[in-house]
Amino acid sequence: MIVAVDGPTASGKGTIAAAIARHLGLPHLDTGLLYRAVGWTVREHGGDPDDPADAAAATAFDPSLLSDERLRGEDAGSLASRVSVHPEVRDALFARQRAFATQPGGAVLDGRDIGTVIAPDATVKLFVTASASERARRRWMELKGRGVAATLAEVERDIARRDARDIGRPDAPLKPAADAFVLDTTPFGRDDAIRAALDIVEAARRS
Ligand code: C5P
Repeated sequence: MIVAVDGPTASGKGTIAAAIARHLGLPHLDTGLLYRAVGWTVREHGGDPDDPADAAAATAFDPSLLSDERLRGEDAGSLASRVSVHPEVRDALFARQRAFATQPGGAVLDGRDIGTVIAPDATVKLFVTASASERARRRWMELKGRGVAATLAEVERDIARRDARDIGRPDAPLKPAADAFVLDTTPFGRDDAIRAALDIVEAARRS
């Protein structure tokens, strides 16, 4: 079975996708990491993330970069959201994501366009969301926990910028697939959000 988990920045979709993968014993791909690797590589090469040719050239990034912790930082996230608007970049990353999704036995993928573009045929589609202020609060707590200095207002501004780019881009904009289950985790803690997601997946498996 293919499980698609989409949603905006800091919605908790990555945590939820990892929990679903563990529960089902399936491999998991965090597709945001691919875009982060592209953004990071453009910068390493002295290119411009807003230039489609520079960004497309960086899709041939070194695969070992995917395990680099620096990709998980805010910097890489912001670069990723800039390179991901280019259709050239999205097209270049398509085959790799599609191959992961369609591997024998199934897979769990999380991102922005899994249920709409990469795997419209997914067995179950989840769109995980939460209010912008709650997502900013969670991200700010996480950064504080990692010892990264940032004010809540800065994190809120960054999330608003990334939402605007992800929702507003013409190619594969962030939006729930028509057949996605929308899971609003604003009132939930981590465990309750995971429980709710697993309930949806189990119900879909039985039907
Ligand atoms: O999910 P994550 O925060 O790692 O994603 C970083 C950025 O990569 C997102 O803000 C989005 O612009 C882009 N992205 C995308 N499509 C995906 C995954 C991520 O456009 N499937």
